[in-house]
Amino acid sequence: MARVFNFSAGPAALPLEVLEEAQAGLTDWQGSGMSVMEVSHRSKPFIAVAEQAEADIRELMNISDDYSVMFLQGGATQQFALIPMNLSDEGQTIDQLVTGSWSKKALKEGKALRNVNVVADGADSNYADVPAIDSWQLTSDAAYFHYCANETIGGLEFHAPPETGGVPLVADMSSTILSRPIDVNKFGLIYAGAQKNIGPAGLTIVIVRKDLLKEGRPGSNILNYKAHAEGGSMMNTPPTFAWYMAGLVFAWIKRNGGLEGMGEFNQSKAAKLYAAIDGSDFYANPVALDYRSWMNIPFTLAKPELDGDFLAKAEAAGLMNLKGHRSVGGMRASIYNAVSMDAIDALVSFMEEFERSNA
Ligand SMILES: *Cc1c(COP(=O)(O)O)cnc(C)c1O
Repeated sequence: MARVFNFSAGPAALPLEVLEEAQAGLTDWQGSGMSVMEVSHRSKPFIAVAEQAEADIRELMNISDDYSVMFLQGGATQQFALIPMNLSDEGQTIDQLVTGSWSKKALKEGKALRNVNVVADGADSNYADVPAIDSWQLTSDAAYFHYCANETIGGLEFHAPPETGGVPLVADMSSTILSRPIDVNKFGLIYAGAQKNIGPAGLTIVIVRKDLLKEGRPGSNILNYKAHAEGGSMMNTPPTFAWYMAGLVFAWIKRNGGLEGMGEFNQSKAAKLYAAIDGSDFYANPVALDYRSWMNIPFTLAKPELDGDFLAKAEAAGLMNLKGHRSVGGMRASIYNAVSMDAIDALVSFMEEFERSNA
């Protein structure tokens, strides 16, 4: 079998064990003579899968009954619009913190629907740092405060949730959910597209404090969180295969130390890669030390004219998808839960060798 080291930002690497489990059940799932993709979402066996997945993510993240957990579609991008529609009324102000590409996209959607107050914008540092907290302009009666917990493109991550003075905190956790323990009770709403740290694309997880949802807001049923929550995320056909795969990933995380285990593992992987970057004069990462991501690590070469050569040789060595986002260039290693320490070791050795032959 030829598996490579996959540093894709998303859709991203999945644990091999999970892929093999899915493969084993693909044509004859649980002795049914069908795959999980071929059964009704309302059938008993699928409902059991759906309920187990919800129970497992609740256990992993220690989510209380004050919160609904929804398994939706449309990606994190659709949430950029559904959140203002469901958590605020027209005319109300929402606070948004801008720290990079994804929070900028969320800002655009927020502005299309509501009055938005930009709390702070990291443009001055080219989004390599977060503006000093004492410079933030908060709205005391904002409907909520939105931020991106991990900027997947810039590689900038919050290692603790921001203080909002009682305003409900909304976090885009697409690329950091399940990577470490967090206190869900600090949040009004957490959302994440699945394709980074949860499972295949097509599924979006939304965790929302029930008391923030108001009857009939918005009027459309299919865009209404309360209706989705009360309908068990089955108002219409959910992405059943992605939901099933997410469940396999949750079980895999449980077998591997839960979020405590993931946190320690991810921190040590990131530390090793940052040490390699910082220890060389050839590679650089621009992000402020306090905000360096454990999940997405962008880096540049001292000789950018060698970028193409670096990528070609990396691929030849089985190190895939290291090209930085088209908006920033350079390289990016995305090192989600499913990326092993062997992958980090192989990347670091490759980088050292490439530096020796090119510096
Ligand atoms: C990938 C990503 C998104 C967009 O997700 P889609 O599922 O493509 O809509 C939004 N925010 C963050 C932080 C991301 O990493």
